[in-house]
Amino acid sequence: MRATVLHAPNDIRLDEVADPQLLDDSDAIVRVVASCVCGSDLWSYRGINEFKEPRRIGHEFVGIVEQVGAGVATLKEGDFVIAPFAFSDNTCALCVRGVHTSCVQGGYWSGEDHQGRPVDGGQGELVRAPLADGTLVATQEQPSQEMVAQLLTLSDVFPTGHHAAVSAGVTTGSTVAVVGDGAVGLSAVLAAKRLGAARIVAMSRHEDRQQLARDFGADEVVAERGKDGAAAVREILDGIGADCVLECVGTTESMKQAMLSTRPGGRVGYVGVPHDVELNVPAMFSSNVSLAGGVAPARNYIEELLPDVLSGEVSPGRVFDLRVPLDQVADAYRVMDERTAIKSMLTI
Ligand SMILES: [Zn+2]
Repeated sequence: MRATVLHAPNDIRLDEVADPQLLDDSDAIVRVVASCVCGSDLWSYRGINEFKEPRRIGHEFVGIVEQVGAGVATLKEGDFVIAPFAFSDNTCALCVRGVHTSCVQGGYWSGEDHQGRPVDGGQGELVRAPLADGTLVATQEQPSQEMVAQLLTLSDVFPTGHHAAVSAGVTTGSTVAVVGDGAVGLSAVLAAKRLGAARIVAMSRHEDRQQLARDFGADEVVAERGKDGAAAVREILDGIGADCVLECVGTTESMKQAMLSTRPGGRVGYVGVPHDVELNVPAMFSSNVSLAGGVAPARNYIEELLPDVLSGEVSPGRVFDLRVPLDQVADAYRVMDERTAIKSMLTI
């Protein structure tokens, strides 16, 4: 089969690799229908994450179950499934508490399983899914082509945006500011709206992203950054700042922006993968601003979000503004790196 391999920073290729085989009774083999490039893949692509050796990549995919191990009870050949960006058993003490990303048997695509064996990346034709019953969520029907894009967002971006909103405590009537206008930031706007936010301010400098933020539910857009940006957010939100700020970038600047935009007593929900982020704890102390969040337990949220996606109540798939076949994966990375696309979808 063909699968995406990061050979070196800025060198991404589609290679011929061995087909995956069932290794455990709890495994399934999934034929990938669609995958996509994540903002977090770019950290490796740009060489910001340390590069050790060529490796498989990709952690967001949907597909059709091609084969199941003897111990798989809830899935059958032909099922359409959504794969969250981490695999998990959905039964251990941490999964039961909703922290599937810390599952005692779990792990990540293109990493290793609990037994130390390699696990396929999502940007390829076939994937061995460990702990298939716990990991994969099947839809009752085969989705239309358009619905495939919507469902693909349940792998990562939409649950991650939702996690930012939940972590920040967004509820009916909340005032919200969103830092970051990538696919996760835009998804966070949609998630905050879905949870009943009364007013949403999106922070973005790009016209196409500002428009999508408005379509997803943002009432106002602030293009300024730093102290000016925070002052603009305060001016819009009762002169005090947002109850809930959703930090969707993961840099020192974005965290500072989030903290400055939060009202005293408010909360920041952060989901941007942190890179050298520092916190001003004394400032948090004096303003009673708290911080929650982390890597999104996407598996925990898929069942809650799926009905609204299937009904068309929300259309998170609008974050995909480029769709290319898998053999153009290098282009899919390049346009995201150059920020000429919000998010690239790969069709297989
Ligand atoms: Zn678990």
